[in-house]
Amino acid sequence: MNELRRVYLDHNATAPVHPEVLEAMLPFFQSEYGNPSSVHQFGRSVKAKISEARETVAHAMGADPSEIYFTSGGTEADNLAVKGAAFARGPNGGGIITSTIEHPAILEVAKYLSKNGYKSAIVEVDSDAMVDPEAVREAIDDETIIVSIMHGNSEVGSIQPVKKITGIVKERGVLMHTDAVQTFCKIPLNVDDLGVDMMSVSGHKIYAAKGVGALYIRKGTKIHPLAHGGHHERGRRAGTENVAGIIGFAKAVEIGMANMDTYIEHVKSLRDDLQKRITDEIPFVRLNGHPTERTPGTLNMSFECVEGEALLINLDMVGIAISTGSACSSGSLDPSHVLMAMGIPHEIIHGSLRFSFGSGNTTEDVDYVMSHLPRIINTIREISPLWNPQKQEVISLEQAESDANLGR
Ligand SMILES: *Cc1c(COP(=O)(O)O)cnc(C)c1O
Repeated sequence: MNELRRVYLDHNATAPVHPEVLEAMLPFFQSEYGNPSSVHQFGRSVKAKISEARETVAHAMGADPSEIYFTSGGTEADNLAVKGAAFARGPNGGGIITSTIEHPAILEVAKYLSKNGYKSAIVEVDSDAMVDPEAVREAIDDETIIVSIMHGNSEVGSIQPVKKITGIVKERGVLMHTDAVQTFCKIPLNVDDLGVDMMSVSGHKIYAAKGVGALYIRKGTKIHPLAHGGHHERGRRAGTENVAGIIGFAKAVEIGMANMDTYIEHVKSLRDDLQKRITDEIPFVRLNGHPTERTPGTLNMSFECVEGEALLINLDMVGIAISTGSACSSGSLDPSHVLMAMGIPHEIIHGSLRFSFGSGNTTEDVDYVMSHLPRIINTIREISPLWNPQKQEVISLEQAESDANLGR
């Protein structure tokens, strides 16, 4: 019998706080509790630390510190970028263009805006979950306010041709936003190289605390604030700063940037190893997402004749944490909108798993997964009407139906 381990392979959902990040945050709950807006020393010293943090975050993406606006995370940054740009254009229409594979923090904003006097166009992707820049060109019209196309996809990892898309978008004088939550501090990223006007990032995907993130807003970009109040974040995001969160976020950025090469090599080698072993040892599997243009820690695979939820529960029982092809966090069983957008059949989507690696994973974790996964998949396939246990192969739906009619 295997010893029981806990193997966390869900880093695209969230990552643990790095010990140095926690250490950097702690003083700001206790000794350094001043409000950065206060004029006395308590406030001033905290304000100076926030300025340093802003510089760290800015430099990591090639921005100027004055272009960084701290938020409560990726979701708020996405909302601020897209709604902020739409509201700045006024209440009379104008459109937003985005893609079918975006995070709900963009898709739901597009839906909200389209119900409130704006227009939205959702560009489709190919079977590798890639947006075609030409499709964006075709979707732009004279009323388009902003295009928002994510950088790295959270579910399958496909890295979008953001630079190319931005080239097209800027030719038309339209604003360009990208959600880089899955790539910031994980792969090289520079706002001038990408050419974007706005970019969202989040702390908890890069080993900082939950509830902190930032929006990069290029100088001269017109956006309206969503939260009104004090003059925090140069009037674009009212509310007393999440000081400890921001300080920790900057620490995580510092660590992430200093170790990026090692990180990429580490997670990519574990990821590729797991991919190879799954492909070698388990029949009827397929890779979802772009084979090469993919975030280094992401592996999304479909197992035919397997119910993803059963797989998730069985893996969870042996201490392995992954996500399935059903809509993430919410506990809902709707098939993933990303996998659907890629044209993957429903029954295959339901047998999809996302393994997402982080810097703390080891080769023992991969061994542990492979000591359980083939057996679990076999057991689940045994009870599937679409699996032939003698031949160890998938039965076509027609064959299964005729077998059933013959009472086999
Ligand atoms: C996690 C995630 C978000 C949301 O960020 P929060 O900080 O959790 O609000 C947005 N976009 C992408 C691509 C993500 O992976």
